[in-house]
Amino acid sequence: MSKASILIVEDEHIISLDIQTSLESLGYTVVGHADHGEDALKKVRGLHPDLILMDIGLKGEMDGIEAANQIRTQFDLPVIFLTAFANQTTIERARKAQPYGYILKPFEEHELAIAVEMALYKHSMEKKLRESEERYDLAARGANDGLWDWNLKKNEIYFSPRWKAMLGYKEEKIGSNPDEWLKRIHPNDLKKVQESLASHIKGKTAHFQSEYRILHINGSDVWVLCRGLAVRDAKGVAYRMAGSQTDITARKLAEMRLAHDALHDMLTGLPNRALFMDRLTLRIEHTKRHPNLLFAVLFVDLDRFKVVNDSLGHAVGDQLLIATAHRLQQCMRPGDTVSRLGGDEFAILLNEVNDASDAIRVAERICGRLVSTSMLDSVKRSTTASIGITISDANHAKPEDYLRDADTAMYRAKALGGNRHQLFDSAMYTSAVALLELEGELRHAVEYQEWLVEYQPIISMTDSKMLGVEALVRWKHPVRGMVAPLEFINVAEETGFILQIGEFVLRAACTQVMEWRKTAYPNLWVSVNISGRQFQDPNLVKTVKNILAESGLAPDGLLLEITESVALKDYKHSLKTLKELSAFGIRVALDDFGNGYSSLSYLKDLPLNVLKIDKSFIKDIAANNNSDAITTAIIAMGHTMNLQVVAEGVETNNQLDFLKARQCDKIQGFLLSRPVHGSEILRIANQIQGPSAGRTR
Ligand code: C2E
Ligand code: MG
Ligand code: MG
Repeated sequence: MSKASILIVEDEHIISLDIQTSLESLGYTVVGHADHGEDALKKVRGLHPDLILMDIGLKGEMDGIEAANQIRTQFDLPVIFLTAFANQTTIERARKAQPYGYILKPFEEHELAIAVEMALYKHSMEKKLRESEERYDLAARGANDGLWDWNLKKNEIYFSPRWKAMLGYKEEKIGSNPDEWLKRIHPNDLKKVQESLASHIKGKTAHFQSEYRILHINGSDVWVLCRGLAVRDAKGVAYRMAGSQTDITARKLAEMRLAHDALHDMLTGLPNRALFMDRLTLRIEHTKRHPNLLFAVLFVDLDRFKVVNDSLGHAVGDQLLIATAHRLQQCMRPGDTVSRLGGDEFAILLNEVNDASDAIRVAERICGRLVSTSMLDSVKRSTTASIGITISDANHAKPEDYLRDADTAMYRAKALGGNRHQLFDSAMYTSAVALLELEGELRHAVEYQEWLVEYQPIISMTDSKMLGVEALVRWKHPVRGMVAPLEFINVAEETGFILQIGEFVLRAACTQVMEWRKTAYPNLWVSVNISGRQFQDPNLVKTVKNILAESGLAPDGLLLEITESVALKDYKHSLKTLKELSAFGIRVALDDFGNGYSSLSYLKDLPLNVLKIDKSFIKDIAANNNSDAITTAIIAMGHTMNLQVVAEGVETNNQLDFLKARQCDKIQGFLLSRPVHGSEILRIANQIQGPSAGRTR
C-alpha cells in the first residue's frame, strides 16, 4: 500500500520507538520524532510528513492540542491524536483542532493502521474537493459567469452576486425565490426555458442548456446562456440543481446582424434575392395547399438608371435606389415582400391577390408613386420604372419560373417605351425562348460564317448609271433558309456578334467591289452598314483600314452607313471617328434619315457626305402631304449642307418622278433592282442603263 511518511510526536522515547516499529511493520516510513510542540512544528516544516501522530501531553510549554492547531492552520496536514487522555475536557479541546483520528493508548496495531489509512484518505479527498472548488470558482470568475444553486425540495434558489449584477441588481435586491429568475425571462422565451428545465429535472436530458433574453433593471433585454445540472438521490429524483449564467448579448447581436446581412441588401436594407426566393418558395408551397389563394410577382426595373449613374455619379444613383426602395415599400400591404435583386432591379411578392387586376393596380400605383413626388431634385424626371407582372399558376413549381416570367414581361414593358407595366403571357415566354435559341444559332452561324452578302445598286438620277451598291447581309440558315437582317441584327447587336458579322461583310464587300472596279465601273463604291456597337468599337478605324489594305480597294471605294441615333449617341466619339475616317478618304452616309431625333444643329458639324432619306417617307410620297413636305425639305437641306442625297425604297415611277423634280441625287429601290447576288450585279446594271436610261433622261 501507500508509503506515507509519518512524524511521531511523543514525550516518552521508548513509546515513540515502539510506535515506529509498529508503523514500519505496516509499511509506513517514519521520518522523525519530536518530544515537544516547538520541535514538532520545526520538523513538520523541515521534513514534510504526510501525517502526524501526536501525543497530547508533551515536554515544554506547548501541548499536543496546541501544536495540532498550529499544524492545521499553517500546514494543512492531517493529525491523529495518540494519547492516554480520555476525559471530556481534553476531548472537547482536541475536537477544536479538527484531528483526523483519536486513538487511546494502549492501542492495537490494526487500530493504528485503520486510523492512519482513514486519515490519509480523508485528507486527500478534502484536498481534491478544495482544489476543484477553487478551480470552479476561478473559472466562473474568469468567465465572468453568474452562478445559481436551486434547492428543489425547499424551492429556494441562491443567485451569486455576479448573476444579479448581470441584470443590473445589487446583492440584496433579489431574493431566493425561483420566480426572481423566471419572471424576468422574455415571455417569448419562457416556455422554451421551462420545457427544457422540466425535461432535465425529469432526467430526460443529460444537462440543461438554454439561450434566452432576460430583463435588465434598465428595461433592456440581456441575452444569456444558462447551463445547469441536477443532483439526484438514489432513486434518481432531482433534489438540487445548479449552474451558470453567461452574458452572450454581444455574440447574439453579432449573430443577428450577420443573419440579417446575409439576407438583406446593404444599401436599401430590403430583403435580398436569397430571402425573396425563400419567401416565394414558401408562398408556392402555400398555394399547393390552397390553390384558390393567388399571389403575384412583380419585377421592377428603373428606366435609364444607367444614365443617372453615369452622368450624376454613383452617390446620386445610390440615393435614387434608396428612395425607390422607400417608395416601393409605401405601395405595399403588410405581408407583401419588396426586395432588391441587385442593380436597379427590384422584385415584389404580392402575398394575396384576387386576380391580375389587383396586381395591375399595384403596378399602376408604383408607376404613379415613382414619378409623382420628387424623389431627388436632380433626377426627378428620370425616375420611371418598367414593371413585369406574373400571377400564380398551378403549372409553375419553382420560384425561378416566376421571376423569369416577370422579368420577361418587364423586358416587354421596357421595349414598349418604359414607364409602364406588362402582364406576362405565355406567348412572351415562347418569344423569350425563341430569342435564346436565336442566340445559340447565331453563335453557330458566326463560327461557320453562314453569311451571304447581297448587293443593291444605287443609281444616278441624271444618267441612270450605277454609281454604287449597298451591301446587305443575309443569313444562310441551315434550316430556315435565307434569313433577313431585321430578324437577327438586333440580337447580334445585343450579344456583340455583330462585330464579327460586320467584319465579314466589310471584307466581302471590299473584295467584291475591287473586282467590279476592274470592269466598266472603275469608280464604283460600296455602302456598308455599320451598327451602333460597331461604331463604338475603338478598333473600327483600324479594322477598316486593314481590310482596305488587304483587298487593295482605295478609300473612296467605301462608304459607311450609320443612322442618326448611332451618330448622336456619343457625340464626342462620333466626331473623332468621323474625322479619322474622313481624313483617310472614307465617306460616311447618314442612313434612314428623318425617322430619328434629327438634331440638325448637331449633325451639321459632323463630317458627313451622304444623306439617305428613310424609305418610310418615300413610301408615302403622293399619299401623304407631310411626307411630301418632309422629303422636299430633306433634299433641300441636304444640299445646303453640301451632302449628296439618296432616296431609298423607291418602288414606283411616281416616286421616281417626284424625287427627280426635287433634284434628289441618287436612288435605290425595288423599282430598279432588289438586292441581288454579286454575280448578277453587272447584268442588272446594264439593264437599268438600257431601257430605263432613256426614261429617266
Ligand atoms: P438599310 O440599311 O436601310 O437597308 C435598306 C433596306 O431596305 C434593305 O433591307 C433593302 O432590302 C430594303 N429595300 C431596298 N429597296 C427597297 C424598296 O424599294 N422597298 C422596300 N420595301 N425595301 C427596300 P434589308 O436587306 O432587309 O436590310 C434591312 C436593314 O438591316 C438595313 O436597312 C440595315 O439597317 C440592316 N443591315 C443589312 N445588312 C447589314 C449589315 O451588313 N450590317 C449591319 N450592321 N446592318 C445591316
Ligand atoms: Mg443602309
Ligand atoms: Mg436605310
